[in-house]
Amino acid sequence: MKVIAAVAYEGQKLFSVEEVDLSEPGSDGILVRIVGVGLCRTDVKACEGHMGVPLPAVLGHEGAGIVERVGERVTKVKPRDHVVLTGDSCGACAPCLTGSSVYCEQMFALNFGDGRAGEPGSFRKGERAIHGHFFGQSSFANYAVARSRNTIPVRKDAPLEILGVLGCGVQTGAGAVINSLHPTAGSTIAIFGVGPVGLSAVMGAVVCGCSAIVAIDVLNSRLETAKKLGATNGVLAGPKTITAEEIRKLVPGGVNYAFDTTGRTESNQQAIDSLAVKGHFGFCATPSQGPNMSTIMVRGLSVRGIVQGDSVPDVFIPQLIDLYMQDRFPFDKLVTKYPFEKINQAIEDQASGKVVKPVFTFPS
Ligand SMILES: [Zn+2]
Ligand SMILES: [Zn+2]
Repeated sequence: MKVIAAVAYEGQKLFSVEEVDLSEPGSDGILVRIVGVGLCRTDVKACEGHMGVPLPAVLGHEGAGIVERVGERVTKVKPRDHVVLTGDSCGACAPCLTGSSVYCEQMFALNFGDGRAGEPGSFRKGERAIHGHFFGQSSFANYAVARSRNTIPVRKDAPLEILGVLGCGVQTGAGAVINSLHPTAGSTIAIFGVGPVGLSAVMGAVVCGCSAIVAIDVLNSRLETAKKLGATNGVLAGPKTITAEEIRKLVPGGVNYAFDTTGRTESNQQAIDSLAVKGHFGFCATPSQGPNMSTIMVRGLSVRGIVQGDSVPDVFIPQLIDLYMQDRFPFDKLVTKYPFEKINQAIEDQASGKVVKPVFTFPS
């Protein structure tokens, strides 16, 4: 079928919105009419030729939409169901079988490397094959093909257009706090970098009942947003600021938990230095250099690398939607909607800090 997609070509830093062919969903596939899809930094990096994603490709991995058609072996969803798409996983390896599908042994092939090239749900432009299956969805298009593993049915009274962001960026931040660090009520936390992931972590810390939530960022505007979402304090990071010292002025003795979203070596070290004895440090982006191990030892700290907020998407995404519907997880405050064809404008606006989380919408 003909679909409108944003295609990333090699050597171009911008997306090209054009008509391409999408192949049939096959017996295990789920054809979804995309209603809204979020923009994540991973899309931008992949478009620029990083992340090992073969180009040309249709990217997009925070899709939400309505099931249009399912293959004969699909029993999980049916046409007209509302769904959020998330990362794909094999369902057969030890991590998948023990509730840790975000650490699936096939994670790279299924989500980045187009290990399913040529299979149902592939794209073509005339004679030319265009890579798809990005995060098992390639949802920068008005239609996408996913599978049961990465299709999450959701309640129909929630605003479907914006729910896709829960499938990656928001679950990464909120899950790192709620699922991985799970701070006890009344404990204290510092969150380094309050872009979409960090702001989701702030909201997660509110859900957990943290008594101090310190946000750290280089942009004042983001600190203000963090405070609106429940951060108790903001620390403006800069070349002359030792953020760990600033945090210790706010929370004497240091915080119980620290979460770094920046992937910067210095930020990782400051996060560790801001922790109280026996504190917990989590991170979701890798720095070029590791932190000082002796600090970790002498303070008895724990360190956790975290992928996708340790989410079990079938459980966690509906939970986040329920919290949102109860006004306890206002992730809609992060979102700015753009018509799909404004995708390149949205990337520019996000990079400049003008908007936090773009979501592209399609005319119905
Ligand atoms: Zn697996
Ligand atoms: Zn993402």
